[in-house]
Amino acid sequence: MSPFIPLFRRYLREQGLPVTPQREAVADTVFESSGHLSVEDIELALRARGERIGKATVYRTMELLVRSGLVEEHDFGEGFKRYEHRFTRQPVHEHLICTTCGKVVEFQSPEVLRAQDCISLLYGFVPHRHRLEIYGTCSECQALGVASPAAGLTCPVSQLN
Ligand SMILES: [Zn+2]
Ligand SMILES: [Zn+2]
Repeated sequence: MSPFIPLFRRYLREQGLPVTPQREAVADTVFESSGHLSVEDIELALRARGERIGKATVYRTMELLVRSGLVEEHDFGEGFKRYEHRFTRQPVHEHLICTTCGKVVEFQSPEVLRAQDCISLLYGFVPHRHRLEIYGTCSECQALGVASPAAGLTCPVSQLN
């Protein structure tokens, strides 16, 4: 079981909510994954572990995990939410989302952090966090011949090199 389960247990107790094996199993599935999971992914993973947990319980538990701050919720415009726990090796990271296959790739960029700080300073802002999502076509989908809507545009960065 994930070492982060006790944190979730503590949160539930603080909120006066019951700590149930079902809630722990849902949380454990999310903590054990480094991906960006949909509720469907979580259900599949639970089933693979031999757990029979209803969709409503999964939804409710995800709501609690997000509220506890242990899990982050993403809306990549796919019509459903995705979840990732906050204990990844990259606490601050950005996302590339393939709009064809739904693949989510993480990256870290010192330039983005610098832009956050410069722009905040310019506007007298104290930054707490930011979010950057780049939507496009991944290299595999491109290799399969998926046409990019931005075809014909050139990247000014690659032109410099
Ligand atoms: Zn793709
Ligand atoms: Zn991520």
